[in-house]
Amino acid sequence: MEDKFIQGKSLIEWKRDYPLLNEIISTNEVFWFNPKNQRYNKAVRNISISEDNVKDAEERLIRFAPYIAKAFPETSKSKGIIESPIVEIPKMKGKVKKIFNRNIKGKLLIKCDNDLPIAGSIKARGGIYEVLKHAEDLAIKNGMLSLEDDYSIIDSEKFRNFFSKYSIAVGSTGNLGLSIGIISAKLGFNVTVHMSADAKEWKKNLLKSKGVNVVEHNSDYTKAVEEGRKEAASDPNSYFVDDENSLNLFLGYAVAAYRLKEQLDKMDIIVDDEHPLFVYLPCGVGGGPGGVTFGLKLVYGDNVHCFFAEPTHSPCMLIGMMTGLHDKVSVGDFGIDNITEADGLAVGRPSGFVGKTLENLLSGIYTVEDNELYRLLSLLIDTEDISLEPSALAGAYGPIKLFDEGYRYIENNNLKDKMENATHIIWSTGGSLVPKDIMKEYYKKGLSLL
Ligand SMILES: *Cc1c(COP(=O)(O)O)cnc(C)c1O
Repeated sequence: MEDKFIQGKSLIEWKRDYPLLNEIISTNEVFWFNPKNQRYNKAVRNISISEDNVKDAEERLIRFAPYIAKAFPETSKSKGIIESPIVEIPKMKGKVKKIFNRNIKGKLLIKCDNDLPIAGSIKARGGIYEVLKHAEDLAIKNGMLSLEDDYSIIDSEKFRNFFSKYSIAVGSTGNLGLSIGIISAKLGFNVTVHMSADAKEWKKNLLKSKGVNVVEHNSDYTKAVEEGRKEAASDPNSYFVDDENSLNLFLGYAVAAYRLKEQLDKMDIIVDDEHPLFVYLPCGVGGGPGGVTFGLKLVYGDNVHCFFAEPTHSPCMLIGMMTGLHDKVSVGDFGIDNITEADGLAVGRPSGFVGKTLENLLSGIYTVEDNELYRLLSLLIDTEDISLEPSALAGAYGPIKLFDEGYRYIENNNLKDKMENATHIIWSTGGSLVPKDIMKEYYKKGLSLL
């Protein structure tokens, strides 16, 4: 192992250049501060994606709102806008102080993407957006739709017949498959979801019940994506949702930031020079947390500090960003097994597109052990009655970590005197579709670890 070569350098050399790799390879928890993090105005100069792109995505979702409201009545209250609540969680904050012995200074909030309608996870943002965009492109190109139409006409036999001539494919560990599968089937597309071995049985069954073709692979996420890509490439009427490289997914996620700002404004929560905002986002391949981070930076610039969270056994974005190798490297190259209960985060190779886009905007990445996810899962149910899937708890570990090893970040960025004014947002990424009996098992496991 020690004399193994990775991208032209021996493991010994990699460890010498990046000593944190010793801990990462031993699957110990770490907190990495991104040394390439820059002032916002400087960092955006190197990024080709602009505010106009995100605004365009926001407008597209508004055009589709009448369709969504009609096709998914559960969204009628929000008039077809797919959005989640944000709430303060003071009881959880108190409990964290007791159990983890960490005093979180500032307000503690949770952004409940677990409650997003239709797909029950953060994938209801990017995944649904990308399929809607594809549907719009096809319909406009074929003279069936114009931008000025009331898009509720899409919920009809005429459109379903039209879309049934086209197919959509995706590779997933579970939740992206759910979101792409549900929206594509509803529109009338033929949809195939390639599921990795990590995918939970109930997620596959739910999709099959909605008429989605589910192909089960014995391999990990990267391989499932590759299979999906291959299959789609052989059919000109097939569209592949590329979780590793998709700009559209990224833009769908980024829209969340505008919506969040509206919510914080309504709650009279200030974010400015004296009131820093900290956001903690679970990271798999990177699109979800990356898109949200990009949007938040557009909105709040240097006043928002975004951290990604990864399982100790799947630290792909951490290794990719730290070494600068991005998608040229997988955790397996460093002998890490990519085995985690956090199925949404079980990704061994990060998105190079996301890693490079956020290279100068991300504050840092920490890793978390699976057992901590379960402990937090039970605590959050006990204190606030919020039920999340294990992956979604990775963000909840962030504030605990920040006021521990992460404190150096606060000191180095002269934030110490501002922490009483800070707001911390745990980005919860999934959970509302988890069957009750499975959630009970998760809860019991967490309790046994407390
Ligand atoms: C997909 C997912 C993430 C991470 O999103 P990526 O785009 O893969 O980084 C986090 N949590 C849950 C529950 C997810 O399903």
